[in-house]
Amino acid sequence: MNAQHVRKSFVEFFKIRGHTHVPSSSLIPQGDPTLLFTNSGMVQFKDCFLGTRAAPEKNSAVSVQRCVRAGGKHNDLDNVGYTPRHHTFFEMLGNFAFNGRFQKEDGIRFAWEFLTQDMRLPEGRLAVSVHESDKHSWDLWHHKIGVPADKIFRFDSDNVWMMGDGAGPYGYCTEIFWDKTGNPGDSHDDRWLEIWNVVFMQFRKDASGLHAGDLPALCIDTGMGLERLMSVLQNVRSNYETDEFQALIGAICARLGLSQEARLSAKVETALRVVADHLRAMTFLVADGVVPKNVGRGYVLRRIMRRAIRYGAELQRAAGLSSSAPFLSDLCPVVAEIMREAYPYVMERIDSVCSIVNGEELSFLRTLDQGLGMLNSFFVSKAAAVQNDAPQVTIPADLAFDLHDTFGFPIDLTATIARDAGALVDLPGFDQLMNKQKATSKQNSLQGSASRSVPPPPIRELWMKAALKSSFVGYDNLKVL
Ligand code: ATP
Ligand code: MG
Ligand code: MG
Ligand code: MG
Repeated sequence: MNAQHVRKSFVEFFKIRGHTHVPSSSLIPQGDPTLLFTNSGMVQFKDCFLGTRAAPEKNSAVSVQRCVRAGGKHNDLDNVGYTPRHHTFFEMLGNFAFNGRFQKEDGIRFAWEFLTQDMRLPEGRLAVSVHESDKHSWDLWHHKIGVPADKIFRFDSDNVWMMGDGAGPYGYCTEIFWDKTGNPGDSHDDRWLEIWNVVFMQFRKDASGLHAGDLPALCIDTGMGLERLMSVLQNVRSNYETDEFQALIGAICARLGLSQEARLSAKVETALRVVADHLRAMTFLVADGVVPKNVGRGYVLRRIMRRAIRYGAELQRAAGLSSSAPFLSDLCPVVAEIMREAYPYVMERIDSVCSIVNGEELSFLRTLDQGLGMLNSFFVSKAAAVQNDAPQVTIPADLAFDLHDTFGFPIDLTATIARDAGALVDLPGFDQLMNKQKATSKQNSLQGSASRSVPPPPIRELWMKAALKSSFVGYDNLKVL
């Protein structure tokens, strides 16, 4: 079963049950400044839940929503590449009911029937969770659907769902999990894959996040990750092993000339997963109108792109290339082609997507090696200390700040590199330096250009200074990076 078949089956299933098909909205939430990106299917229906906007026809909807979770309350950027189930960009299959159109039992039954009948998942491999105070849902699962009591987990905070921290609807939820191994000895995380969240939107909270009363009527809001469902249907252990991801990863390897032998390294596999994930995210974000910038949404996109560029440089080294060149922009059309049937508009905008991605690659590649060299020099200077069982190495705030300010390393990129090297970053110190810089530039702009501080030295000069301070040992020794 391929992804397009599943998208269509999902929409058909709910249309037959009286839901209106609503197309995916943009990744940029319309008229909602509290949210960075569309992070779930309910975002476009937020006001319908609150009762401040008319609900779709038939008081119900079904959608396949493109989502990004790379900032704000639901942020999976740091998970990507390290867990088998998290992406920055993913698709959420969802059904929704407004103004009491469907009851809890309907929401639960629809989800169960779609999985066990249409998708033919064996009931014995599924389990569910409910909020510990939600006896009604427990009863429905057990008495109406027939889920055995030992397959109904009762959780607390995990089973309350809200879109973000600001004002909006929220409610208790019940989730469906897939048993990956069938082995009771495995940890919860290794064994149970969360696939579908069925939320019963019942309450409102205010801008400070405090409970502010009930919604006019019970609403249903569900979301299932398409990539996770595909991993179950295709019987693979990770989303990245599904056919669409394998096609993209194969194209990355072919473009870079990465051999099967090089792919035996766990580090290379992680880098491939990150690059594949981030390629999808940047292609869709740019196609939806986001451009890399130093603030707001554009900065999140820039962080995603720069991470991909850095992991891409690692892949190029693993492929035996002596220096890094732009390649991500060559692969955006592959993303668009794989998803063409569901998202034809991406291919229509692919030329401008490629040129924006290529521009960011060219600009960051100018400073990436220099910044990595600085970090490497730092790690080399600390290597002796590490061997002597000294406390964990911490990248000092001034180095992290230099990397940010001069070499364009977003702080989370420095933190990722540190994590891969088993080191830490002085984040509070970095924040202090950032705040100081902000205060100074505010003061300077108040005083006018005449009193501007000395401009920063050109990149080359700083780099030389740093290289002289610590002995740079060449790229062959960049093992820690
Ligand atoms: P997890 O606990 O695995 O991080 P979640 O509880 O944060 O997931 P929900 O907010 O409940 O996820 O979203 C509904 C569904 O969307 C999930 O059950 C999952 O199938 C899918 N999903 C959520 N986050 C991601 C992601 N980062 N990448 C891919 N699919 C996701
Ligand atoms: Mg999550
Ligand atoms: Mg969860
Ligand atoms: Mg969940």
